[in-house]
Parts: sequence; structure tokens; C-alpha cells
Amino acid sequence: MTKTAYVEIHLPALRRNYALAKTLAGAARVWAVLKSDAYGHGLTRVALALPDADGFALIQPDDAVTLRHAGIGAQILLLEGALEEGDVDIAAQHRLDLVLRSEHQLQWLLQKARPVTVWVKVNTGMNRFGFTPERALAVVRQLQATPFCRVAGLMTHFACADQLGTPLDEPWRRFLQVVEATGLPYTAANSAALLREARTHGAVARVGGLLYNNNPFYPDTRLWPMAAAPVMRFAARIVHVSTLQAGDSIGYGAAFTARHDMRIGIVGAGYGDGYPRSAPSGTPVLVNGRRAALVGRVAMNVLAIDLSALPEVQVGDEVTLWGAPGLSCDEIAWRCGTISEELQCALTSRVPIRQI
Ligand code: PLP
Repeated sequence: MTKTAYVEIHLPALRRNYALAKTLAGAARVWAVLKSDAYGHGLTRVALALPDADGFALIQPDDAVTLRHAGIGAQILLLEGALEEGDVDIAAQHRLDLVLRSEHQLQWLLQKARPVTVWVKVNTGMNRFGFTPERALAVVRQLQATPFCRVAGLMTHFACADQLGTPLDEPWRRFLQVVEATGLPYTAANSAALLREARTHGAVARVGGLLYNNNPFYPDTRLWPMAAAPVMRFAARIVHVSTLQAGDSIGYGAAFTARHDMRIGIVGAGYGDGYPRSAPSGTPVLVNGRRAALVGRVAMNVLAIDLSALPEVQVGDEVTLWGAPGLSCDEIAWRCGTISEELQCALTSRVPIRQI
């Protein structure tokens, strides 16, 4: 069956965004974050597209093994460390760095006594994982006296780096306590911290969103590098053109009623493909480089757009739903009250992917 909705992944744009992150990071290395299938962009595809990357970071140990089997030799960090005891063996076997974020992970390390490299996680206010500064210091000292463990450094993940109105001073103070007491290298910056605070860059920045053109501060664009480019383009074809008379409504729940006669394009994509049902009437799409607005509720397989100002558009024409110059995924996500990452991760496997 011909699919009317599809995704393009633009690998040259991904490479440019990685190079941009490197420039912004200065002397720090940059690990490309590949969790959740590289934010929906394809785990192996993205890793293989960045052959010169300083390293990668992800969560699932089996994803790391997949990368090793694909020939990826670069450093790989397991962002949440060993998820179960056997992961310590996997880390040792496949040379995976482990984040150490909890007492039970520490017990696994000590019991397994395998040669592993760890980054000790300090809780600076996210309050999900990690040790208090005092406990982190003690854990570092204990592991430094353990012959089979190499402590590569310290790690933290800020709760509010994407909120420009919230200073990073207090979490930074907590982290710095351990950094200064141990003299260890550190990794603290995600995309938002990389963009806003050079002191967080440390030895390695862990960059996800920026690689995929997701501005963590959207709609605030002050810190966003304009050279960043969209990587994922989600598009679909117009499958039908119809008309509404003034007073007619369209779609489930008759949620949109025409105030004047309208020309309507029915587009072959819906929430069954990953376009968010929460997108309200007025959400923009691009048709032949021009904007048109969504009307009515998004259905499972179709959505409707207003073509009244675009009489030349016909069945079969392409509609960009997000990810082109002039229509960022951030804008669509913002209209839906969410972030780009949620939309990108929610694309369904029904949607064919073309690599550009
Ligand atoms: N570090 C950790 C621990 C993460 O969980 C993530 C993703 O949420 C990142 C780094 C990358 O964050 P971002 O996508 O904002 O760059």
C-alpha cells in the first residue's frame, strides 16, 4: 500500500548541528545523546552518520550493544547506568561507561568486581537519581580505592536548565562542591546548559535536542543558534480536496465551523502516524512553501487544512507537517503545549523513513 505520510531524516543537517555543538562546547567533548531511538530519528542511523563524534550517550544497554555490533567503537555512556546487575557484565564486555546513580548500583559494581568506568552522579535538584554531594564524595573515595573500577568523573543533570528565568547557581554550587573536593572531570551540560552557561561545559557535554534542532527555550530564540537546521521532516500528501459552505463544520465533534466558504485539503496523516491529536485549529503546515492552517480535529489517519488562499494546490501535492525552514517542530509542539521531543518520539512505525 502506498503510504501517504512519510518522514525524511536529513543527515547532513544532523552533522552540521553536531559541528555547531562542538563549536559551542569549546574545549569540551560532545557526546551525542541517542536515547529513545535517537529521539525518534533512528539509533543506528544517527550514530553511523556521526563517525567522528566524541562519543554517544543512551539508556538501554542493548542499544549500546547494537551500536557495538554496527561497528561503533566510540565511547558510549549508559546515562542511567546498570539497569540490572547483569548490565555490569555487559558494560565490561562492550567497554560501556556507566553512570553510577544509586546505592544498589554501587552494590552491583562491588559484587561483580568487573573492570568498568564510572561517572558518579550528583543529585543537584532533579531529585530522581544521584547521590547527595556528601555521599557522592564518599562513593568516589571508595571506588578510587577499588582496583577494578575507574572513576572517570562526575555527572549531573539539571532540573531547570531549559528555564531561562531559573538560575543554575544553587544546583551548580552543590555540584561544584564535589568537583572541587575531588578534582575530577565532569559532565553536566545538556543542550540548554551548553547554550546558556559555559561553566557547565566541563569535560563533556551531553547533547540531544540541539542535534535534532530542538530549541529547549522555545519560543524564546535569544540563545538559539540560527545556523541549526531541521533534521526530521514529517510530510504527507493531500488525498482529497473538498469545500465547506459558510456554516458547515468539519471533522469529529464538528469542532470547526466555517464562517465563509472554504476550500479544504484532506491530508493523509493523523495521530495514527504520530501527528498530535492535540494540535488545535490554526496550527500551521507548509504547502508549496506557503503556510496553511489546520481546521477541525486531527483524526487517526487524516487531518484537514484550509486551502482557500491556495487554489493551485491539488490532490497528490505534498504538505510539510513539521521540520522545514519556516516550520519547526518546536512551533508545532508549542501549539500543542508540549516539546518537540514528544512529537518526534511519538512517530509510529507505520511511517516510512527516507534518509537524505
Ligand atoms: N543527559 C541526560 C541524563 C539526559 O537524560 C538527557 C536527555 O534528556 C540529556 C543529557 C540530553 O538533553 P537534551 O536533549 O536537552 O540535550
